[in-house]
Amino acid sequence: MKLLNVLQCPKCKKLQLAPASACRHCGTGEIKETLIKGTGTLYSYTIIHVPPEGWEKEVPCTVGVITLAGGLNVTARFIGDAKETLSVGDPVDVRSENNELIFNNN
Ligand SMILES: [Zn+2]
Repeated sequence: MKLLNVLQCPKCKKLQLAPASACRHCGTGEIKETLIKGTGTLYSYTIIHVPPEGWEKEVPCTVGVITLAGGLNVTARFIGDAKETLSVGDPVDVRSENNELIFNNN
């Protein structure tokens, strides 16, 4: 199992992924990095066929929203064939590679 580096607010305990100097939920300015399990549930996904500039070799590409433990939703790219293997509600693993979040079925 992989771990993900996220930010957690010491006051409200909510998690966030994007770098920030304050908690986006309660405004506390002392959020700290923490490690959480990279396991979650596939909330939704889409298959991208028309790429943004510079991503022409990456399509078709599947991008999903995954709800991790603690309720944090993250967007990640799927590695594999979505038509054969993905369903909303699936348990999935998320990991960080080269500053990108990717996920696969677990
Ligand atoms: Zn907070």
